[in-house]
Amino acid sequence: DESPSEVPDKELRFSRFDPVDQRLQIINDDKNFSPIVSEYMKKHWHLANSGFNYNIVAVFGSQSTGKSTLLNRLFGTNFDVMNEASGRQQTTKGIWVSKSDESNTLVLDVEGTDGGERFEDQDFERKSALFSLAISEVVIVNMYENNVGLYNGANLGLLKTVLDVNLQLFQQAGNPKTCLHFVIRDFTNQTPLERLQATVTTYLEKIWSTLNKPAGKEDCSLYDFFVLNFSGLPHKIFAREAFESAVAKLRTRFSDPTALDYVFLPVLHKRVPADGFSSFAHDIWERISASKELDLPTQTQLLAEHRCEEIAKEIFDEEFLVESIAALKRGVEVGRVVEEFGEVVNNVVDECIMKFDENGSRYNSIVYKRKRAEFYKRMATYLLPVYNAQLTNITKTRIAAFSASLSAGLAADVDAGVPINFAKHTTAVRREAENSFLAGAASSRLSQVADDEWSAAGQYGQLVEEIERISAELRSGAVDKMLKAVEGLAVGNMNDNVLGRMNSGASVGMWVSILESFKEALDFEELQIQKRGQGFEASAEELELWKSTLRWQTWTSLLETLKKETADDAILARLKGIFDNKFRYDEQGIPRLWNLDDPIDSYFASATEDAEKALSIFAKLDVPLKLIGDNIIDDQRFDPACVTIIPANRLQNIRERFKRDAQTLFVEAKRSMVVTTAK
Ligand code: GDP
Ligand code: MG
Repeated sequence: DESPSEVPDKELRFSRFDPVDQRLQIINDDKNFSPIVSEYMKKHWHLANSGFNYNIVAVFGSQSTGKSTLLNRLFGTNFDVMNEASGRQQTTKGIWVSKSDESNTLVLDVEGTDGGERFEDQDFERKSALFSLAISEVVIVNMYENNVGLYNGANLGLLKTVLDVNLQLFQQAGNPKTCLHFVIRDFTNQTPLERLQATVTTYLEKIWSTLNKPAGKEDCSLYDFFVLNFSGLPHKIFAREAFESAVAKLRTRFSDPTALDYVFLPVLHKRVPADGFSSFAHDIWERISASKELDLPTQTQLLAEHRCEEIAKEIFDEEFLVESIAALKRGVEVGRVVEEFGEVVNNVVDECIMKFDENGSRYNSIVYKRKRAEFYKRMATYLLPVYNAQLTNITKTRIAAFSASLSAGLAADVDAGVPINFAKHTTAVRREAENSFLAGAASSRLSQVADDEWSAAGQYGQLVEEIERISAELRSGAVDKMLKAVEGLAVGNMNDNVLGRMNSGASVGMWVSILESFKEALDFEELQIQKRGQGFEASAEELELWKSTLRWQTWTSLLETLKKETADDAILARLKGIFDNKFRYDEQGIPRLWNLDDPIDSYFASATEDAEKALSIFAKLDVPLKLIGDNIIDDQRFDPACVTIIPANRLQNIRERFKRDAQTLFVEAKRSMVVTTAK
């Protein structure tokens, strides 16, 4: 079941053609345009990639005037010719195309009519003429010599049609002209070719003058639109040799670009790139078929739009872009910052643009440039999410690096035992983070994308925001650490002094001296904050806040120390010390050995009195409040009751416990006195 179905259905349905042949019926008997022209351009004619390097020639003329015979001779084509023996021919009304065997030339064999009066014939003649003129560089007008000057019937209609329909093309001055190449058949040379040429030219000019010109084109000349060429061909049978040599010469004119009388002058080229030919010809035929106006410049522009879009789509559909960035996309998606991002995307996009230019640049330059920009933008749009992911990764990486570097810098200061220079570290690290973000974002960009299309502003904002948040967090941690360190030093010193003072007994000067230590601590703190605050670029308000925080904490620490040192057991121990000092030791600090005649009662009384006096001193911070300092006593949290170190209820209890202990010591002393004396 293989062989017949090898030929696709549409080809069979559409046109009669021999698959091994070069021929294609481009417009079929039903006047439909072939759907496989672009396939033929690629596979049979190999012209699809020729750009502008191809030409189109068409032939016009009455039926059975040897047109197909001529084309076959000139271009090595295989168009149907009338069977000379039977005089029969398939009378098709289509248009056939084939490719020259010698050059990049497409040859259109336009079936002529017999010049009949039937509307249908005239209509197709007009339409096929219009179609041929719109796409061909050269139109061969085929006529017998003996018909030159006999302007009736077939010839008259044909020439009038050719000139008239050309006006429909609305050709602007400067648009390519079309060459009408008159081939005079059965040329005898009885009348020189120049005479025939003059006759035909005069006639053409006459027709031209009678035609209705479009508005604004009333004065334009035949030669604004046409180049005229003339050749004579002797009788094919009666002057066979002369015929063959004339055909050979004519063949050179159509196939050899170096020939002096080469017919396909560059100025004639319709500037339809080969890859757009089928689409252009199709559109033109559809408009002609529907009897719509045909405006070639507009048509060329539409073709450019259509083709440029198709070219872009083809490049997109090849998935070259998608595949080329697949690895990069995967990297970005797993959170990596892809270093070569910009290089890769720019290379891929440039390559796609180069592919686009290859075919696209041949089309209408305004349209091409617009479509090229659109294509670029489309690729940019496709790549934008990947770019954004890259930016997000850069942002994350930069934030993590910022946080780590700043923490490390702060830790280094601490390790080195120098005041934390937060401002110095943060400035350097922040600049580094911001600069490398901007550099990474810039190097990842497509080189020709608009700033607002691929903007890094959002992510940059996030980066800055995050940097600020982390800075603030680390700063506040570092400030806390610094305050703690200062407080630790100040309070440690103060406590040492306070303890020393309390241990050396209570006297009137004790409280003044303790408050002096407190003041010293505050002074130390103030100085330290002033110094270390610079590293944090602290404002005056902030410095003040830190100082007052420390001040209050130091005050609270002092109160805590005092409370601790006057807790029941601690104060009792202290009182006992004072008591012992007087009672158990003499002035030189040597333990007494009691004698019976010693005034033990008065010692005891005096020692007890000392201890009780001390207790009442310890019990209350009894100094003028202003010695504590306005800063403290003006604080809302300050409680004037805090000057009571040992409240009255506890005081009573301590006093009793002390008395009991003292009594015990007294009894012991008395007993020792007896023992000593008894010895
Ligand atoms: P077409 O209908 O115009 O394509 O004509 P064909 O090429 O089919 O030829 C029609 C008839 O004209 C055939 O019998 C040819 O042999 C004959 N013929 C071809 N070339 C010439 C020529 O140069 N002079 C004359 N008198 N007859 C020719
Ligand atoms: Mg023919």
